[in-house]
Amino acid sequence: MNDAGHAGHMTPDEFRRAGHAVIERIARYMEEVERYPVLSQVEPGAVRAKLPEAAPERGEPFAEVLRDVDEIILPGITHWQSPNFYAYFPANASGPSILGDLLSSGLGVQGMLWATSPACTELETHVLDWLVDLLGLPQRFRSGAAGGGVIQDSASSSTLTALIAARERASAGAANRHGVGLGPAGEAGPRLTVYTSRHAHSSIEKGVKIAGLGSENLRLVDANGSHAMRADALEAAIAADRAAGALPAMVCATVGTTSSGAVDPLRAIGAVCRREGVWLHVDAAHAGSATVCPEQRGLIDGLELADSYTFNPHKWLLTNFDCSCFWVADRAALIEALSVLPEYLRNQATESGAVIDYRDWQVPLGRRFRALKLWFVIRHYGAEGLRAHVRHCVGLAKWFAAQVEASEEFGLAAPVSAGLVCFRHRAGDGFNEALMNRLNESGALYLTHTKLDGRLVLRLAVGAVATRRDHVEGAWARIAETARVLAAEAPGA
Ligand SMILES: *Cc1c(COP(=O)(O)O)cnc(C)c1O
Repeated sequence: MNDAGHAGHMTPDEFRRAGHAVIERIARYMEEVERYPVLSQVEPGAVRAKLPEAAPERGEPFAEVLRDVDEIILPGITHWQSPNFYAYFPANASGPSILGDLLSSGLGVQGMLWATSPACTELETHVLDWLVDLLGLPQRFRSGAAGGGVIQDSASSSTLTALIAARERASAGAANRHGVGLGPAGEAGPRLTVYTSRHAHSSIEKGVKIAGLGSENLRLVDANGSHAMRADALEAAIAADRAAGALPAMVCATVGTTSSGAVDPLRAIGAVCRREGVWLHVDAAHAGSATVCPEQRGLIDGLELADSYTFNPHKWLLTNFDCSCFWVADRAALIEALSVLPEYLRNQATESGAVIDYRDWQVPLGRRFRALKLWFVIRHYGAEGLRAHVRHCVGLAKWFAAQVEASEEFGLAAPVSAGLVCFRHRAGDGFNEALMNRLNESGALYLTHTKLDGRLVLRLAVGAVATRRDHVEGAWARIAETARVLAAEAPGA
């Protein structure tokens, strides 16, 4: 089969057999994932040490490749799909999303322009319009109004895209024409400044750097006792910058910070942005999924004052990585900032102005057919199923928080927010760190930490597809027991 001049492509029938084996392997993984140590136990370099020095000269049987998945790859996997995974935020992958992703690979579509696969663009526009209603977002984000939604690879890209649109709006297009920091005629222009809370995600600073705005022009605005941005401090920071001759370009508010789930007050921040004519971007990467439930919509109160919004179905909304939804209220601002049209991309549909070309809504040109998996997820679960998933996780987080509150040794370090519990043992930072390491090394569960008010805090984020009540009960029992063992080992700690 691999004779000279023959590449050795899989025939459809070989694909069918190998494909069934892969689906079977994934199904078995779902059945067995609970039995693996959650955090991979391999040492650095251990995976590479098992791989041959050079790529094979001759093609190998597919069964051998699959065997090496078990022997080489699986030991080096941290099991994000384990029911005992509580670290960072979830990256949950549901059956329908895996199948949607597989089908997207199978169709092999590159959806840079409407014309390069109309269904790729139109399904995406439509599903993002559905989500506006499913999540209770402002109608101005719908494609039928002046706005619209697009799927990006990550919230970092969504925020970068918002920063570039905001940069161009603030500089009236001068940054794109002449360079950042230059005025309408290419003369020296004002510095552009960006604002976010001290507790915002690192992707804001990264975006500011990539957009050429300079991290010195990023203001980390003070937070209140609940780690939420203070609107009065934001207003003061903007006034100080204006007095110094700077031009405020964007405010990024967070709904559900990565550290503690803090929610910035959108309505008060939005009022400042409206008064000052500053672009308001809202990052709800994790917590945004919660608003499928009407009782969680308080999280986004005031969102109608925002210019753009992002949340990641690839965290908590049952859609496997990568899938970050991004909406703008004024799509013209985004397209003006990002559009370039070389001759080789010219086509009738684009010229007619009747279609969306999503290449103008993102940094890369090419794009995968990500809407397919999101569509599969929404159709499989229905709004009802999505709400049930969020309520299940929030309920388990509240149950865990109640145990923490009732215990003598542990206390909550922040209010429970969208499935995230921040807590700590009374014995101090060293003890909490030792406790976390002991738990993670055991493989029984995996959780991570943050720092709040200068103190080390443990985070337990509930969100995996397979997590049931008995898992969270087991996690609490394990945490309490490990703390007792540690305290006995080091009395007085
Ligand atoms: C996870 C997270 C991000 C980054 O998400 P990516 O999709 O990995 O870029 C940004 N902001 C917040 C608040 C997050 O929790």
